[in-house]
Amino acid sequence: MTSDTTNVSLDNLVSLCKRRGFIFQTADIYGGMNGFYDFSHLGVLLKENLRQAWKDSLYNEQGEIVFMEGAVVGPEAMWIASGHVQNFHDPMVDCMACKHRFRADHIDLAKGCPHCGKSAWTEVRTFNMMFKTEVGAAQAHASVGYLRPETAQSIFVNFKNIYSTARVKIPFGVAQIGKAFRNEITPRQFLFRMREFEQMEMEWFCAPQDSVQAFEFWCKKRLAFYDAIGIDMSKIRMRAHEKDELSHYSQQTNDVEYLFPFGWRELEGIAHRGNYDLSQHSKHSGKDLSVFDEATQTSYVPEVVECSVGSDRLLLTVLFDNYREDVVENEPRTYFAFKPHIAPIKAAFLPLVKKLEEPARALFNEVKKSIPQIQFDVPGSIGKRYRRQDEIGTPYCFTYDFDSETNGTVTVRNRDTTAQERIALDQVVHYLHDKLKK
Ligand code: ATP
Repeated sequence: MTSDTTNVSLDNLVSLCKRRGFIFQTADIYGGMNGFYDFSHLGVLLKENLRQAWKDSLYNEQGEIVFMEGAVVGPEAMWIASGHVQNFHDPMVDCMACKHRFRADHIDLAKGCPHCGKSAWTEVRTFNMMFKTEVGAAQAHASVGYLRPETAQSIFVNFKNIYSTARVKIPFGVAQIGKAFRNEITPRQFLFRMREFEQMEMEWFCAPQDSVQAFEFWCKKRLAFYDAIGIDMSKIRMRAHEKDELSHYSQQTNDVEYLFPFGWRELEGIAHRGNYDLSQHSKHSGKDLSVFDEATQTSYVPEVVECSVGSDRLLLTVLFDNYREDVVENEPRTYFAFKPHIAPIKAAFLPLVKKLEEPARALFNEVKKSIPQIQFDVPGSIGKRYRRQDEIGTPYCFTYDFDSETNGTVTVRNRDTTAQERIALDQVVHYLHDKLKK
């Protein structure tokens, strides 16, 4: 029986990710750094597959999607215009007894300190979460810059540049994948709340009269994305923000939430931002960011629907959602049930014994020409090698055995069912390509 994945412990997942080479704590050998993580080979491959799936999912028939990559540091003036210098705060409170610090809106102050149980709180203060830096060598002349807390603003400040060069018509979207930085008061739950993370954001620019329809369109489309990458849709829900919850820029926001082992939490935000950002940047920079509508012969500032998801939070979701435990041949087994197009390694090629390494490697090299994300693994018993591939979520294992030498076939083992079948050597490439289709 496969286990209920809502009960996967975070500690188990963290240690599996470390043991198998997905994710390590940053500067591990120096004791790590809270809220920072490094991605190793399998983590990089998995994240890249998610990025690709996200890019593919933006395609639509209503308008073009174009891409950009902005700088990570932005000038102070830009972050004043966007409202982040004034508003990007979280409430912070300290326990005077045990000195632990908390986000005041994440705990019930009346119940006492979650760490020591005492009720000796400091005042609740606000804390700006942007990382501030000085740009330039001479301190006296250095200007203030901020590491971006979201990628969206680089899209807004480039709106006119893109609009006038990309040969696009309204409506259209600008998408960006890139790093964002937030000095979170209490980074926690592994990749859920980090201080350096990656965002995948798409800003959809449309005429004001089309913005409500666009918001609904993107809400539906974003749900289809989670289905396409194989997330259990009974653990996904859409939650509309209450009026008092809305950010300073938003007219309407829906969160896509996932049922993590620690409860329902935001995975993606979909926001109707109106023309707040373009108007603010226009006002502060003095540049006209309106567009001209040929049909009505009038100018207007486009409105924006934003879809924003963190790559790392999505990766964590995919890990939780695909984590399985079962029993195979009387032994407990752990595996990730990734969809083949999401799996970091698509297939493993295993000679049954060392003696068969050469012909098995020839097959591996042939497949690698068109499917590079595959592995070749020789040492260890075949059972152990299967388990290792199961643990990293490899959907297919091809084993080259003695029969391969005589009848030109290999066995292919299915990760989820562990069932095996024999296929002809010259069918392997075709077989895998077929399985990798989305
Ligand atoms: P939360 O309420 O969880 O702090 P938020 O509402 O501040 O999130 P947004 O500003 O809407 O988040 O950011 C968009 C997306 O970026 C989030 O849905 C999430 O996937 C991701 N994200 C935001 N903050 C972090 C973080 N500290 N670590 C990892 N991912 C994050």
